[in-house]
Amino acid sequence: MNREKILGPVGSAENDDRSLRPQRMSEMVGQREVFERLEIAVQAARQREEPLGHILFDGPPGLGKTTFATCIPHELGVPIEMTSGAALRAPKDLIPYLTNIQDRAILFIDEIHRIPANVEEYLYTAMEDFRIDLVLGDGLNARTINMTIKPFTLIGATTRAGMLTGPLRDRFQMREHLDFYSVEELTQIIKGNAKILQMEIDDESANEIAIRSRSTPRIANNRLRCVRDYVTARADGKIDPDVTRAALLKWEIDTLGLDKMDRKYLETLIGVFHGGPAGVEAIAHTINTASDTLIDEVEPFLLRTAMVVRTPRGRVATQRAFDHMGMSGKPVDIDDESVGDDQDTLFT
Ligand code: ADP
Repeated sequence: MNREKILGPVGSAENDDRSLRPQRMSEMVGQREVFERLEIAVQAARQREEPLGHILFDGPPGLGKTTFATCIPHELGVPIEMTSGAALRAPKDLIPYLTNIQDRAILFIDEIHRIPANVEEYLYTAMEDFRIDLVLGDGLNARTINMTIKPFTLIGATTRAGMLTGPLRDRFQMREHLDFYSVEELTQIIKGNAKILQMEIDDESANEIAIRSRSTPRIANNRLRCVRDYVTARADGKIDPDVTRAALLKWEIDTLGLDKMDRKYLETLIGVFHGGPAGVEAIAHTINTASDTLIDEVEPFLLRTAMVVRTPRGRVATQRAFDHMGMSGKPVDIDDESVGDDQDTLFT
């Protein structure tokens, strides 16, 4: 199949992310259980010469959902069509994909939780019976024909599995949740990607980048690129641990992988709100940003690393956050009833 269709012109600067994307499942690191189940399903589908069952990947951004989805057609030797839930506003947006789909090909819908209800319903018969209704003509002359489409595999990816309706979820034969990566796995990914980017990197430097990459391959790739730029511009082109630390410092990425925005959040929560509880809206106003940005992009990591906890009265900084930020004061006792009091959800 046409490799460029999936990967773009490999090696060009704007396509670095794509060029670093493994093309075969065997090149992927980690997620072993998911890998093994998919390997079995792919092999069975090939042997039976049947389409693979529909697959749903869920998990936070940057963990490999798209990578799995784009490797699978390579394993099966079939083409892939890619779209996104946000682009499918009505069934008519979906029809060209379904009517043009080739036998046993993959249709990949990223962020599938964003499709509206009428598109979702249209998918049901397509997924289950490989049939769709087409309306021909309009007004009084309109008539509906029921059309058979080629058997295909739908692969959906979502960062918000909870937003999918039960009927849609149940139509996926396999549902796979992707987990965060260990430092060792990220180190392996970074070393492999440094090779692709034609850079030399030692184990310690790769490990240093991995530690600061929030357990996420996409972030590891971005950090690696920052170090590469720094090395190209400021050093003699060779990565070593000192240069790596200097580069990450320049990009304001600290030893735990927190960036400028994360630290600003903690500085505000601790410095202005005395460690909380504080509502996310109040924090957002103080640092002059949108609360959605904090909720989607900043808080998940701070919550996951137990720097911040959510209480019914608002966000609270933990001892870990005070220590990491080197700020004086004491975190509020979250077992204290007035903090745990569920009276003011406005603050959350
Ligand atoms: P998602 O679709 O979950 O947001 P992607 O599949 O786009 O994440 O992954 C982002 C990047 O991270 C990929 O381009 C690839 O370079 C890297 N990556 C993700 N998962 C893996 C993996 N298991 N092994 C190696 N690299 C990976």
